[in-house]
Amino acid sequence: MKRGFADGKAPTASMTDAAVLSIRNASKTFGQRRALDGVSLDVRKGEMIALIGPSGSGKSTLLRSISALQTIDPGPGEIVAFDTPVQKDGRIDKGVRKTRTRIGMIFQQFNLVGRLSLFTNVALGSLGRIGFWRAALGLWPAETQQAAMAALHRFGLAEYAAQRANTLSGGQQQRAAIGRALVQKAKIILADEPVASLDPVSARRVMEILRELNTADGLTVIVTLHQVDYALRYCERVVALKAGKVVYDGPAAGLARAQLIDIYGPEFEDVFWEGAPT
Ligand code: ADP
Ligand code: MG
Repeated sequence: MKRGFADGKAPTASMTDAAVLSIRNASKTFGQRRALDGVSLDVRKGEMIALIGPSGSGKSTLLRSISALQTIDPGPGEIVAFDTPVQKDGRIDKGVRKTRTRIGMIFQQFNLVGRLSLFTNVALGSLGRIGFWRAALGLWPAETQQAAMAALHRFGLAEYAAQRANTLSGGQQQRAAIGRALVQKAKIILADEPVASLDPVSARRVMEILRELNTADGLTVIVTLHQVDYALRYCERVVALKAGKVVYDGPAAGLARAQLIDIYGPEFEDVFWEGAPT
């Protein structure tokens, strides 16, 4: 696909060896509304991509479709992760469970179980491997215990391991949610507005952690961000959606003010900040 503004032509690039994720012509209709309108996207291993666009442009719908939390419309649309189909022609693939264990989701509201300890929440990342009853009884394998403690240490949370998740700050909870994805052994992190509910200091810390998982651990990260300045600061590649269509796919540095105004329309005043592109 041509870099820069989408030129409307069908992408011709086939999935390269290093591609971990391929979205082909994905559409999603809710009633009369097209949340996704022919989205195609190839993601290579080790990329860190900011998915931006005004509210309602389809960002969450795209991430949910990739993680098989919802189907795309029947038709030619297809989503493939790790060379394995996630969904096709409006149906989730039967083998998706295994693929899903390699995709970690991070949400704006952290999605921890509030009354469980931080340790248990992080250890729950292993659920896909160890089975429900073992987890329910807290019979964590040594490997899970070690991975959970390592993640808590790494993100500065070790001292809160035994504390109920809902007694911790938003930033701490979000770091624990990322720890859970590490214990899950996710290779792709899909983070949907992970910093939207955080104060600026906690938000930066979470962005830095995502960046570190990308650069140091080689994880592929797709992060939706309302704050365009974060997108430009932490991600090399930016994909912008507008009304369910990809309207920009290219280097963060290539996004000019005029394009941002065009992408965001009436919301554009929200997206400018000190040092914004001129
Ligand atoms: P974004 O994350 O960019 O704000 P969404 O993907 O949440 O956008 O939503 C895209 C469009 O699809 C919006 O118009 C939204 O109202 C609609 N939509 C999303 N989920 C649903 C749903 N479950 N039912 C009906 N409409 C939905
Ligand atoms: Mg959203």
